[in-house]
Amino acid sequence: MKVIVPKNAGVCWGVERAIDMAYQTIHESQYHKIVSLGPLVHNPEVVEDFKSKGVEVISDLKESQAGTVVFRSHGVPLNTYEEAKTKGLEVVDATCPFVKRSQNYARRFSRQGYFVVIVGDEKHPEMKSVRSFSPGPHLVTMNPKDLEKIPVDSKVGLIAQTTIPLTIFEAMVEAAQKRFPEVKTHDTICDATKIRQEEAAETARQVECMLIIGGKESSNTKKLTKICKEIQPKSYEIEHEREIDFSWFEGVKILGVTAGASTPVPVIQRVCSYILDNLSQKRIQQAI
Ligand code: SF4
Repeated sequence: MKVIVPKNAGVCWGVERAIDMAYQTIHESQYHKIVSLGPLVHNPEVVEDFKSKGVEVISDLKESQAGTVVFRSHGVPLNTYEEAKTKGLEVVDATCPFVKRSQNYARRFSRQGYFVVIVGDEKHPEMKSVRSFSPGPHLVTMNPKDLEKIPVDSKVGLIAQTTIPLTIFEAMVEAAQKRFPEVKTHDTICDATKIRQEEAAETARQVECMLIIGGKESSNTKKLTKICKEIQPKSYEIEHEREIDFSWFEGVKILGVTAGASTPVPVIQRVCSYILDNLSQKRIQQAI
């Protein structure tokens, strides 16, 4: 069986930067307590490594009284900066610059009097962060029907969650243009996401089975899986190689393997080696 891995599969620049910043903080603050507000990356092995180096994951700043707090690449709500300052915590802000760009557009649209529509999943931490930068009226949604909640004479500014498929953003923009007299848009989907989604789709077209590696909480992994499944129904999402069912590969001559933006490249390599080693062992056993 041949295995194809897209060129840019796995960890993106923004997550890699956040991981590097956290390791640098560990190196520099040997006697400090370090916490991260939420897991730094949706990869259990990387989170475990940080834990072994003393970085505790907290879900609320109330759990931390002193030391350093690392804000992950998704960003945090605006009032979290204030809260950290009030508590005297040292902040290492690893918010991805692409998320910062969205925060800036949310603030700018709002100040210019636009009703801000942030096209994304309102439960996602990035959306909780970005919407907090918009002081005026705003809405987080991926459903064009929700635009009916906005007064029809509004001027509307649209931005996107960095990881959504472009088609969702385009559908929202089209619906907004039909309803409102003035519509401004900034496509804030990050290139890392676009490239990974395009490459995943391209790979899914060439293979008989597709494997998508990523953390269970990773929304960009889920999106990659959705895109691949639409093209190749035999697409399976895993977090770890032990979840692989080898019956998936029966009769498969070409397998595609991709990974979400939180999955380190060595994990992809390990999964591919695991598959190929197991398949060749099976072949040897059958030949004996
Ligand atoms: S997916 Fe894009 S926006 Fe998100 S962390 Fe990576 S580079 Fe930044």
